[in-house]
Amino acid sequence: MRSPDELTALFRERGLRVTPQRQCIFRLLEGNDRHPTAEWVYQQAQSEMPTISLKTVYQTLNDLAAMGEIQALDVGTGSARFDPNIGHHHHLVCDRCGRTQDINVDVSALKLGRRQLRDFSVTSAEVVFRGICSTCSDHPTTKTTEDKAHA
Ligand SMILES: [Zn+2]
Ligand SMILES: [Zn+2]
Repeated sequence: MRSPDELTALFRERGLRVTPQRQCIFRLLEGNDRHPTAEWVYQQAQSEMPTISLKTVYQTLNDLAAMGEIQALDVGTGSARFDPNIGHHHHLVCDRCGRTQDINVDVSALKLGRRQLRDFSVTSAEVVFRGICSTCSDHPTTKTTEDKAHA
């Protein structure tokens, strides 16, 4: 994702409205590697911009995704997550709290069978490693939500 200043210029160039609310969202996403949900962005933005609406958050995230500045990600944690890291990479996902981390691993050894390759041409592959993060394994009996566990 580009910097908040560059995004502001880019949005204006494309005729999209840039409001202080949207700029606040840009700042929350910059360098953010926790793969936030729209709800997380909304909660964080509210402390700075009490009048921001969830609709504005969704709209801004969707605009950024449509422009290729962030990736919308579904790693099976219940809600869509947004990733400002748009380089090709893979993820570790905690089954208990939903914590999602970036990883770079070599998956070039993964091969499809000849039958699939006959009528399918592969352009990319994303791998999700699932398991339990250290915070959750340290507290095996406590069911935590992401924000409580990793605040
Ligand atoms: Zn966890
Ligand atoms: Zn990621």
